[in-house]
Order: sequence, then structure tokens, then C-alpha cells
Amino acid sequence: MRIMPELPEVETTVAGLRSVLQDSVLTRVEPRRADLRWPIPVDLRQRMTGARVTGLSRRAKYGLIETDRGDMMIFHLGMSGRWRIDPPEIGAHDHLLIETGSGHLLSLNDPRRFGSIDLVRSDAWAAYSPFTRMGPEPLGPDFGVAMLAAALKGKGTSIKAALLDQRIVAGLGNIYVCEALNMAGIAPTRAAGKISRPRLTLLVEAIREVLTAAIVAGGSTLRDYARPDGELGYFSKQWRVYGREGQPCLCGGTVQRRVDGGRSTFFCPKCQK
Ligand SMILES: [Zn+2]
Repeated sequence: MRIMPELPEVETTVAGLRSVLQDSVLTRVEPRRADLRWPIPVDLRQRMTGARVTGLSRRAKYGLIETDRGDMMIFHLGMSGRWRIDPPEIGAHDHLLIETGSGHLLSLNDPRRFGSIDLVRSDAWAAYSPFTRMGPEPLGPDFGVAMLAAALKGKGTSIKAALLDQRIVAGLGNIYVCEALNMAGIAPTRAAGKISRPRLTLLVEAIREVLTAAIVAGGSTLRDYARPDGELGYFSKQWRVYGREGQPCLCGGTVQRRVDGGRSTFFCPKCQK
């Protein structure tokens, strides 16, 4: 099943890119079209070619690539984006090519083009507009029960909608929200402001656990990332509920699916209250 990249997929992608790009000089940086979801910076080629990569990191679902020129390239994988290392061939959906001094070729492949590429100054990255109102990293020290309780206080929206709101917590998407709510035993439709502190504690632990397990699974696939297509960031996982409508939940109940606004929610009515 093709999935949209969320935090663990981006984390794994960045780790894979780091293995090839860290401390490398970029000998060729070639956008092959003018835009993805929005225009690719016209000076990307000029500012990145010849630069040395000094660091790679992740914020929410964005990958950050820093160079010794004080620039930072920020990419988002959208719905279908993926990086490939030394792909066997270059096709119509390979929209950005990067070559390194050590002879590797990287391609950003994105058939649906909902991804993005931007370039900012490294010392001003926090002012990049998607980041300015973004909540804390779910695996970082600023995310926790007290913070989450304060953010959800008085909220009548569903807990699922609240967790997808990037201003409350960054980087969560449909898959890991469904998984964490199942692990915590909380119904996705429950009003966000009416969840007790002990249950929020379980939720925070569940969010950290589902993300960490996915990152570990992704990391283990990276060790043999020499897949024929060189594709990074996607790995097969065993979901608790996601994509498992009609199949058994761990509790013995049956996973159900409901659709709101075109988005599927998978949950178990027996153990999620
Ligand atoms: Zn269940």
C-alpha cells in the first residue's frame, strides 16, 4: 500500500540522505521543472552547486539540508514524493537531480507534485512560514501531558482533528494519529477538551511509541537501502488499525473505518472509548 509520508518516513529519508550527502560537495544541482506545489527557487542551482553539505535534519514533515554557504534547502514530500539514491533510470517524475563529488546521483521523485522545495538562510530558518506557528515535535522535550492538556483545553473538536492540527503538535498525519489513538484506547471522535489527564498521559506515550517504532523499522530497512530503485523513506509496517477495516483489533474487536471529508479514520469501537 502506498502511504503518504509522515514524520517517521521523513526521518528515515533524512537519515538515508545523510549517509550520502553529509560533508559532500554538490557538483550538480538541477531542477527539471519550474515548480512543484509552488515555484522552485530560481537561484537554487546557483546557490547549491559547489556548496558542501554541513548538516541534515528534520522539522515536522520537512527535511532540512544545510550548506557551508549559510543556505538551507527545505523539502516537503507532499503526498507522493520520495528521494532515490543512484536510481537505475531518470523518468518524467524526477524533478530535482543532485550529484555529489563522490559520484552519487540523488533524485527527488514526485508524481503528484504536492511536495515543495525552498531555500532559506540557515540563521533564519525558524521564520520560514510553515514553521512560525507550528507546535512542538512529538518526540522532543517540549511535547508532554501538561502542554497537550493546555492546548486541548475547552476544545470541542474531535481529538483526531486536534492531533492533526500542526499548531498543536507537529508532524502527525492520518496514519500515526489512528495508530496512537488505538494504542491509547481513545475514540477518534471524542471531544479533545474532555479527555482526562490519565488518558492524555496514555496518549502522549502512545504517540511517542508509534512514531519511535516506525523510525526504528525504517532505520532497519536503511541498512540495506540498496533496493533496486534506491528509494528512501518507505518501509512495510504492521499497522494496528490503519488500512485494516474488517480485520481483528489486538483486543479481539473488529477494526472499522469511517470517512470524514474524504479522509478515512480506522478505529476499534470495542477498545476505543
Ligand atoms: Zn480494539
